[in-house]
Amino acid sequence: MRATLEETLLAAIRTIPDYPKPGILFRDITTLLGDARAFRRAVDELVHPYSGTGVHKIAGIEARGFILGGAIAHQLSAGFVPIRKKGKLPHETVRVAYSLEYGVDEMEMHRDAIRPGEKVILVDDLIATGGTAEGAVKLLTQMGAEIVAACFVIDLPDLGGRARLEALGVDVRTLIAFEGH
Ligand code: AMP
Repeated sequence: MRATLEETLLAAIRTIPDYPKPGILFRDITTLLGDARAFRRAVDELVHPYSGTGVHKIAGIEARGFILGGAIAHQLSAGFVPIRKKGKLPHETVRVAYSLEYGVDEMEMHRDAIRPGEKVILVDDLIATGGTAEGAVKLLTQMGAEIVAACFVIDLPDLGGRARLEALGVDVRTLIAFEGH
């Protein structure tokens, strides 16, 4: 019998306790990316609701959002837009500060990466507090994007990120949830 999506993802995602610091359960998707069937299934599931809906761009958050986002863009025949840590993009950028667990950082996108009114899907591997994704949503909105959805393989619902994005009016799609953080 074919494994359910949840079984496939649970078997493919590796959990590393106390990384990068004590008390964190790091959900490592490199094992999922290395598993051809699980990688394909995750991408197919994320893509499914949006095929044929005329999405123009996939915006991926550095770095794991680039891998998933590139595959999703290919499947949807959409363009790909990288959202990066500050100082990495070579052309003129727009920048936003976003909150981390301790302190703030900044992320950037090329100013000409999205035209006003384009339909965009935001992609990352995991949503925790939602601070990173909220920063990306602000950048995309500032450039006039119509954000169709924000998609993640993993949700950590106890950290409230999904609710935070939904409060901004963003539709959130995730494939599997883990308790705790
Ligand atoms: P946040 O801004 O709190 O939603 O954090 C999301 C970003 O941090 C994503 O880019 C994730 O890849 C990474 N991240 C946060 N918590 C974890 C975790 N427990 N395991 C793996 N990655 C995480």
